[in-house]
Amino acid sequence: MLTTAAALEAVLAAVSSSPTETIDVATATGRVLRQVIRAERDQPPFDRVTMDGIAFSFSDYDLSEDNKNRYTLPIQAMQAAGDKVVTLESGHCIEIMTGAALPENADCIVPVERITVVDGNAKIDSEYEVKKGRFVHPRGSDYAKGAHLLTAGKVISPLDIAVIASCGITELEVATDPLVRVISTGNELVAAGQPIEAHQIRLSNGPALVSLLGSHGYRRVEHDHIVDDVDTLRERLRQHLQEASVLVLSGGVSMGKADYVPEVLAELDVEVIFHKISQRPGKPMWFGKGPRGQLVFALPGNPVSALVCCRQYVISALKEASAASKNPPQFAALASDVSFKPSLTCFQPVKLFSNAAGQTIAMPVKTNTSGDFASLSATDGYVELAKDQTEFPAGSATVLRRWIVD
Ligand code: AMP
Ligand code: MG
Repeated sequence: MLTTAAALEAVLAAVSSSPTETIDVATATGRVLRQVIRAERDQPPFDRVTMDGIAFSFSDYDLSEDNKNRYTLPIQAMQAAGDKVVTLESGHCIEIMTGAALPENADCIVPVERITVVDGNAKIDSEYEVKKGRFVHPRGSDYAKGAHLLTAGKVISPLDIAVIASCGITELEVATDPLVRVISTGNELVAAGQPIEAHQIRLSNGPALVSLLGSHGYRRVEHDHIVDDVDTLRERLRQHLQEASVLVLSGGVSMGKADYVPEVLAELDVEVIFHKISQRPGKPMWFGKGPRGQLVFALPGNPVSALVCCRQYVISALKEASAASKNPPQFAALASDVSFKPSLTCFQPVKLFSNAAGQTIAMPVKTNTSGDFASLSATDGYVELAKDQTEFPAGSATVLRRWIVD
């Protein structure tokens, strides 16, 4: 049976890069950038005043003790943010507002709180230490025109949107959002909104998997429910394979008599890459590749297994296809001892805390078998406990994966 590392490697090796498309910046948050963003102009584009006050020339400010007028300058004009640059006349000052360009010939700002205006003259507080260049954010001091600001592979964040908008860009090249089908299999499943009988169960994996994919930015995800009937399964999966590039099934991959998924996928020429991983939960997972390179993930139906396998393998594959730059692995220290005897990797759901030393602490949350999805609501992710170890003392460093954040 494959190890978790070998399974992830096999999944990533089966992925091909998704195409690039051009979209409006307004819809780009969360998408993966496929171009370099370079600065349109110097930043700031001019010497930017950072205080409301007066602007003048330090050379007009007479430092000799015996000059009684050293603190008083006649106001020549007012210049606000967005106003054209005024040329300062010698011996004067200009009333200036935050965000305005520094007037020509000026090199000094005194904040409005440190002046008094009487009869068109600004008198500077005698205690105030006037300094050349203070409260001026110099042109190009953040970056120069043409500077490399964002790299392909960046997952576009709200902060990147500021950078992109500041470059005057309205459209971006990003990785296409793949067409994904989430498919729930099982005769026992009844969707919310439908009447239900005692022997049936609510279909919860489908909506949860669609939501998990959505929280990672995958929006073109549709759900289908197929009963455990070979002919129906074959026809519906044939159609999904024609229409979508990624199939995420849940249920029907174990050893039960109604577990038809692997045989039907084989009939549809989906090449099996692996079946079963030495892990808990999620051991029965099946993975294969369709004739057009479609990725087919058949996850176990148990809700905890389905969610862990989706987070661990499906989302990793979609990120790989988008060529998103990889974040370094995250670690957390176990908050309590964990004992896990089977010779399997354990994906242990955890609630996260931080301690006063600034460490991330993972509190194991017990799930009552892999069907207990309700316990997962209290968790932030899961930690990976190595296959060849059975005792994991409190304080052990573990690899952490958060459900939502990468
Ligand atoms: P299976 O892998 O099909 O044998 O299913 C394992 C268990 O998970 C069974 O108890 C199923 O009823 C349950 N299950 C399968 N699919 C879903 C689903 N979409 N939502 C909730 N539970 C499911
Ligand atoms: Mg089933």
